[in-house]
Amino acid sequence: MNNMKNRGTKKSSKIEKLEHTEKKMNINKENKKLKPRLMKFEELPVYLQDNEFIRDYYRCEWPLKDIALSVFSWHNETLNIWTHLVGFVIFVTLMVMSLTEKTIMENLLAGFSRPAGEARWMTMKKNGTTDSFPDSYTSQISNPSFLGVYGDGYEVVLWPWFVFLGGAMICLVFSSISHLFACHSHKFTLFFWRLDYSGISIMIICSFFAPVYYTFCCQPYWRLFYLTSITIVGILVIITLFAPSLTSGKFRSFRAALFLAMGFSGVIPAAHAVSLYFHHPQVLAALVYEIAMGLLYAAGAVFYVTRFPERWKPGAFDLVGHSHQIFHVLVVAAAFAHSIATLVIMDWRRGLPPCNAGILG
Ligand SMILES: [Zn+2]
Repeated sequence: MNNMKNRGTKKSSKIEKLEHTEKKMNINKENKKLKPRLMKFEELPVYLQDNEFIRDYYRCEWPLKDIALSVFSWHNETLNIWTHLVGFVIFVTLMVMSLTEKTIMENLLAGFSRPAGEARWMTMKKNGTTDSFPDSYTSQISNPSFLGVYGDGYEVVLWPWFVFLGGAMICLVFSSISHLFACHSHKFTLFFWRLDYSGISIMIICSFFAPVYYTFCCQPYWRLFYLTSITIVGILVIITLFAPSLTSGKFRSFRAALFLAMGFSGVIPAAHAVSLYFHHPQVLAALVYEIAMGLLYAAGAVFYVTRFPERWKPGAFDLVGHSHQIFHVLVVAAAFAHSIATLVIMDWRRGLPPCNAGILG
């Protein structure tokens, strides 16, 4: 009797097991067919819970293929990715324009730094180098050459300009990739947010090269001093950012302060340059663009730290309009203001005689 009973329970448990594995297989099949879903803030693992004012539309631990495709679908990172992808395209375009044709570079320089219709000879006249429309200028325009826009006896090399464009492109593309892939796993989150911070630092360092290089062309020791110090500070900032304790969300304000401090260390060489060339209107014009850049970065930092407007209406800005998207747009605008300042400075330098002519300080 007892044996029979045992056999009976054994049989039924076997059937149960079989049914259970069958169910499991079906669930797995369904899961494979189903697209991974978007999640609410409360459903996320702790490492992805960063901004409690963004309530919904999170991707969480999706397979890499789905994450890659999510560039084209709506979730709360879509616009964070695209704002910097569009910025990246803007800087690639600037790079291609500067590389392809010397005449385009000439137009870029002239277009940003002088009002329409003002001819180059007027600038030259002001500097007292020539009295009439210089033939050399027209021949420069029609005579394409690469990596050197030639001024009157002074060659303006383009590599510092390309260093800046390269830095901006690295920052923007690192940021887009980080916003796309960080949600894949805890390891990915740690790696990509560090990559994002280092991208920002690289852009700040690279931004200094062109203006410092061109304005201190005739003060090589100062130029070397400023370029070396900003590079050292930048590398120290990157090392600090990679310290494990600083990657947590708690240090948001600290990171913002670090970037701002790094950015505002540019005030010292800028003040020095203005003290040397305050009677040169183009230097002052460039300064105005650099101040605009500083204000745009500062405004970006305020949004980044305060998490406005989503703090004001949690859940209302999950997809469009939250602080990080505004911060991204302001970063692109600031980098663009800096591009204009750099082009103005390059055009100013191009119109000046060589250092040993004794006109420069
Ligand atoms: Zn970002």
